[in-house]
Amino acid sequence: MIFWGTVTPNFFERASNGQPDKSVRCRLCPHRCTLRGVAVGLCGVRSGEGGGGLPFYGRISSIAIDPIEKKPLFHYRPGQAILSVGFVGCNLRCPFCQNWQISQTTEAAGNFVSPEELVEKADALGLEQIAYTYSEPLVHAEYLINCMMLARSCGIANVLVTNGCINGDAAAEIIPFADAANIDLKCFSPYSYKNILGGSLSAVKDFIKTAAAGIHTEVTTLIVPDFNDSAEEIDSCIDFIASVSNEIPWHINAYHPAYKLKTAPTKTETILDIKKRAGQKLLYCYTGNIGNDENDTVCMNCGCVLIRRNGYVVKTPGLAKKIERHGKYRCGQCGAVLPVKY
Ligand code: SF4
Ligand code: SF4
Repeated sequence: MIFWGTVTPNFFERASNGQPDKSVRCRLCPHRCTLRGVAVGLCGVRSGEGGGGLPFYGRISSIAIDPIEKKPLFHYRPGQAILSVGFVGCNLRCPFCQNWQISQTTEAAGNFVSPEELVEKADALGLEQIAYTYSEPLVHAEYLINCMMLARSCGIANVLVTNGCINGDAAAEIIPFADAANIDLKCFSPYSYKNILGGSLSAVKDFIKTAAAGIHTEVTTLIVPDFNDSAEEIDSCIDFIASVSNEIPWHINAYHPAYKLKTAPTKTETILDIKKRAGQKLLYCYTGNIGNDENDTVCMNCGCVLIRRNGYVVKTPGLAKKIERHGKYRCGQCGAVLPVKY
């Protein structure tokens, strides 16, 4: 295997707010932490040491082979397996985090895996895609870029599964190395994003727009009772996604109690009702975590079943020839170009 070598992207800059000279500012996410010495920022994984330190560079807390549908990605290489790696740390504080054991601490067990080792592993397993997932990958942007460059040079695609909460200039530097993304849209209230999750709705909206303009993009919303399930907020999510593109698949997932939140799980009827409402403006809406998810993908032109899903068992009876020019499939029945990429 031939590698192109690694680059050294730099998401640190000199602090310019009267801090002592040795302070640096991290420009990756809206927190814009000012960092000095070994003290880490809010995400727990970036320090000011040596002009910008990455004490958890390459520290992998979890590695597994998943169905790509588990990310979830439903319109990108359906039915394929993907090498999935997780890290430690996160720049948000979601009280319902399902991976809090690795996102809200840096103490989780892990091993150093170099970009070369990661790509070699995917290649040795015969996998053609790697997902950066589980905790928040973007706070490890330098490692991601190094991995994504190597992977791409070896014909392996890169998938980001992310909260999308980073600054626009950083997003523009990272997204071109990826091929697909699933991005959380956790709610549509700037107040909740800031005060409950510790993030920024406007940064996430911008990230979704930038990603959708350049790479295959799907959006996920975990529906949490009394947090984001008001009709007004749900309609705002739907309108926003539709304004970017009505072809973006929207994953409407039921919440189950996790981490600090003990609220009862989201009712199945709530999820189905949201799916129905969303279907008036979005072409592809899917449910998750309700047990009997009916998530087949149907051709919007002729109505034939393109992709049949039964849990993670996926069949593609309606997908026909790939079209090299678009990187997309055609419908096997009517020949329409589909928003399903390979
Ligand atoms: S990525 Fe981490 S260190 Fe950088 S600004 Fe965000 S929270 Fe702070
Ligand atoms: S953004 Fe994701 S990983 Fe981070 S706290 Fe929220 S749910 Fe957990």
